[in-house]
Amino acid sequence: MNFLIDLHTHTNTTPHAYSSLEENVRAGKKRGIKVIANTMHGPSLQDSPHWWAIANQRTLPNYVDGIRILKSVEANIINIDGDLDINNKIIETCDIILGGFHGIPEYGDTDDINKNTKALINVIKNNVVDILVHLGNPSFPIDYEKVVIAAKKYNVAIEINNGSLTTSRSGSKPNCEKIIQYCSKYKPYISLGSDAHFSTLIGEFSEAIKLIGNYDKKLILNTSEEKLKEFTTLRGKNI
Ligand SMILES: [Zn+2]
Ligand SMILES: [Zn+2]
Repeated sequence: MNFLIDLHTHTNTTPHAYSSLEENVRAGKKRGIKVIANTMHGPSLQDSPHWWAIANQRTLPNYVDGIRILKSVEANIINIDGDLDINNKIIETCDIILGGFHGIPEYGDTDDINKNTKALINVIKNNVVDILVHLGNPSFPIDYEKVVIAAKKYNVAIEINNGSLTTSRSGSKPNCEKIIQYCSKYKPYISLGSDAHFSTLIGEFSEAIKLIGNYDKKLILNTSEEKLKEFTTLRGKNI
């Protein structure tokens, strides 16, 4: 099974990532990647660009060198109501919206499992976020079962983040194993994300692939453009 769609990648529009979009495209093409989500960090992250840089992705072409570019944002959850740090201009521009927790001043205390779980369930119900990212992060304890059940009910995808299993968010792996167990029980869509912050990591899913084992391929967004389209149509989007 090939996974030729990367729905979580970063460029040096935030300084803690190190490649341009063209470099990402070139490296992705070498791996045979067909679709790249150009995921820009939401404005609350300390080194993010101004919101209009994110909204201005409307000026990007849909294809660069034959690779489909999805305009995208990785929004930050800012409170227990599940509000995000993105405005309507960003929402209108983006083909696919990721959302999750990062250490931002707006959100505050992070070790309250009830607060984190409620915030995520409200994010799901608010219906703006298509994919919940790196839920295995041990800095933000979550009741995984409740979140997976809600994600299934509202057709929000759960991300399995390759970066969480390699260089980032140390300690995520046992949590990701629990998440995939609940996913196997409740069967939400899942999305593989490289979370590449450098071009050579575009489409790098090897640890995520090991973790998902024989998860039902019909529920994995990265298996084909048709599958991705099926999901975005369910989400009320025409990408
Ligand atoms: Zn980042
Ligand atoms: Zn990211």
